[in-house]
Amino acid sequence: MYSSADLPVDESVILAPERVLGAFTWSIESKVRSANRSIASPAALPPNRLFVPPELRSEVLQWGHSSLLSCHPGVKRTLFRVTERFWWPEMKKDVSEFVSACSVCAQQKSSNAPPAGLLQPLPIPQRPWSEISVDFVTGLPESQGNTVVLTVVDRFSKMTKFFALPKLPTAKQTAELLTTHLFKDFGFPQSILSDRGPQFVAQFWRAFCVLIGAEPNLTSGYHPQSNGQTERVNQDLETGLRCLSGQNPSSWSRSLPWVEYAHNTLPSASTGLTPFQVVFGYQPPLFQSLEKEVAVPSAAAMVRRCKGMWIRARAALL
Ligand SMILES: [Zn+2]
Repeated sequence: MYSSADLPVDESVILAPERVLGAFTWSIESKVRSANRSIASPAALPPNRLFVPPELRSEVLQWGHSSLLSCHPGVKRTLFRVTERFWWPEMKKDVSEFVSACSVCAQQKSSNAPPAGLLQPLPIPQRPWSEISVDFVTGLPESQGNTVVLTVVDRFSKMTKFFALPKLPTAKQTAELLTTHLFKDFGFPQSILSDRGPQFVAQFWRAFCVLIGAEPNLTSGYHPQSNGQTERVNQDLETGLRCLSGQNPSSWSRSLPWVEYAHNTLPSASTGLTPFQVVFGYQPPLFQSLEKEVAVPSAAAMVRRCKGMWIRARAALL
């Protein structure tokens, strides 16, 4: 889908746009850049942003809301994605109107009510990936042999990892999966919050937690909301998958990485920062022109920036 501004654009249609729920394309930026060559940018244009002329705004909104990079988020998060690179006067109003009129959202989002809050607030973690929540989303239609998603949430940054599985795993399989695909990247956590599913009440799970130095925290059967963190993520995951795979539910496995990408690169309500920013200290640039915004002069400066992000995130969580 990528087309450089210097190359002739291939106009042949491979798949009609109305059949693509999550178009994944960066070509929108070259289009806006070309349009800018013949018009003067308004004085209010923020630095390193592109002014979007009226005729291209709906296409930019489509990219910011419906593409795989975003997976149909609400108004605030759609606005965040669009303002990462684009700007025009009254864009907030246009984003709001676009999101309210989105037929995919209207069909897939049954309720916008936030999930029940924590009955007993859990202590605020001190750093990313020290305290995690794990849960399963089950009952999905079979997709590439998978019917279950293991969701893992870092309670500090709200970063998530989704793992598609053929069926509910055993305690041993869950432990192996987390070690192989999570702890090797982020280190061992201090605590793991879960419900009282058979994997997590198993002796194996308790022994595994002792081995890695993590405290297994089980939510009470009477107060499952105390795992509200994963409840919220599971809701976002199900909505994201429905929005992207609506017409072909058995294709959800392929959408899973994009729902994870969108979740991790859009701001979370509790910190106001994206999970990616909190963990790595910068927002991954979507376009070449944004590289200079994230560049750091030295490794020490990178560490300082990360610590600054953690302080901001912790202050927001307190
Ligand atoms: Zn939508």
